[in-house]
Amino acid sequence: MMLTADEKLCARCRTPAAKLGAIWPEGRLCRLCYQRAARTHGTCPGCGAERLLPGLNSTGSPTCVDCAGIPADFHCTQCSTEEEPYRARRCARCCLQDHLAELLDDGTGTMPGPLTVLHAGICAQPNPRSALTWLRNPEVRALLTAIATGAKPLVHTTFDDHPSPRTAMHLRELFIEHGLLAPIDRNLVLFETWLDRVLADITDPDQRALIQQFATWHHLRRMRRLSAAGQLQWGTTRAAKQDISVARDLLRHLSDQGKLPSQCRQADIDHWLATGPTTRSTARTFVRWAVKNQHLPALDFPYRTAETRPVLNQDERLRLLRESLENQDRPLHYRAAAILLLLYAQPLTRIACMRVDQISRTENGETMIVFDDQPVPVPHPFNEILQQHLTNRPNMNTAANHASPWLFPGYRPGQHLHPGHLMKKLRESGIHLLGARNATLRALVLTMPPPVAAQALGYSTQITEQHAKHAGNTWTTYASYQR
Ligand SMILES: [Zn+2]
Ligand SMILES: [Zn+2]
Ligand SMILES: [Zn+2]
Repeated sequence: MMLTADEKLCARCRTPAAKLGAIWPEGRLCRLCYQRAARTHGTCPGCGAERLLPGLNSTGSPTCVDCAGIPADFHCTQCSTEEEPYRARRCARCCLQDHLAELLDDGTGTMPGPLTVLHAGICAQPNPRSALTWLRNPEVRALLTAIATGAKPLVHTTFDDHPSPRTAMHLRELFIEHGLLAPIDRNLVLFETWLDRVLADITDPDQRALIQQFATWHHLRRMRRLSAAGQLQWGTTRAAKQDISVARDLLRHLSDQGKLPSQCRQADIDHWLATGPTTRSTARTFVRWAVKNQHLPALDFPYRTAETRPVLNQDERLRLLRESLENQDRPLHYRAAAILLLLYAQPLTRIACMRVDQISRTENGETMIVFDDQPVPVPHPFNEILQQHLTNRPNMNTAANHASPWLFPGYRPGQHLHPGHLMKKLRESGIHLLGARNATLRALVLTMPPPVAAQALGYSTQITEQHAKHAGNTWTTYASYQR
């Protein structure tokens, strides 16, 4: 039977259905409309039952299969849940449980005892389909099975040595989250992986040895100490990476000039600085270290000159604040992060790792936020955005994020959103990050004396005083504010 042009259209979205989802009394449904229908749950307006509502009644409200006369039964043949079937009339969760149990089989038809916790955790996540999608990755499947059969031991080195760092990292985090591996510092592991790669790429053995010494003694030692105290921040590893990269570039430049480090002259440094990007000035750390340890002759390395200090004007800052309040097109959590930046001048590296318990409500309903030790009030209407965000945090539906303490839970289990990700998203929405922070700091020091601003917001007093000076505010009455 030939279909007319109109009959080929999807009955719901009226587009030509490239992929057919289902043929129901109302007509042909495209794949997308079918999926949307088969994932709609609620109270049926026809019969009052609480169930799957794939149909549509005459007023366009979703209804159950019986009220819509849809000739299909969505009940899972295994667990009887009424769901969109994933495969062979079984729901996604039942398919996930079985598939994962197969992968975690130790080879004798049983799952090793400790792995049952991991199995339960992954299967309990609200969206089993995303877990099934993740399990399509052959590397994930191979690693799970290797650990289950004992082909690979369940220790950190198994993940360190894995050829695919991203896959290994996600799995490692799941094992940590479920108490099967001791916690590690992700920032430190990523830095060490990065360093190994950088060192492997340096062909000259002397240059490689020098960079390795610098990285180990100047940076890694300090980072390991910070990590042990639970204080290693992503910003620190980023700065270390930059220091090491420019040091490598400087050594390469010298060797291109046919010089050993010991033959480096002041003119070489000056010329290199003058002919490259301003980031070269960060080589100061390396040069000073190398001079002190007699790898380079005594040389002078100037501080960065003509430091530019980008600042938005206050109108622009207010416009961005207004937009963060009103622009519903942008995801709520990015708007909340933008507000913390624009109201309190918090750097995104700090915003990203804020915890839910830093925000509270007083008895008279005022929203308070703690950055350092003193709670500061969140003025209306910004408090509403933060409260809305608190009840709608993103990424709460992955296996291990149910009880996430983070204000901005990340995609990875147990982690907060990566500061780099927040930076990218806020930049994309047109916010000049450093300019916005500096503008906010200046506005803040005009309303609060620098020491108070510094204490409340966790800044050093020097920074706030500098901004007060630039804002034309010298705080001559400063002393009277001191306790
Ligand atoms: Zn459609
Ligand atoms: Zn009904
Ligand atoms: Zn089921």
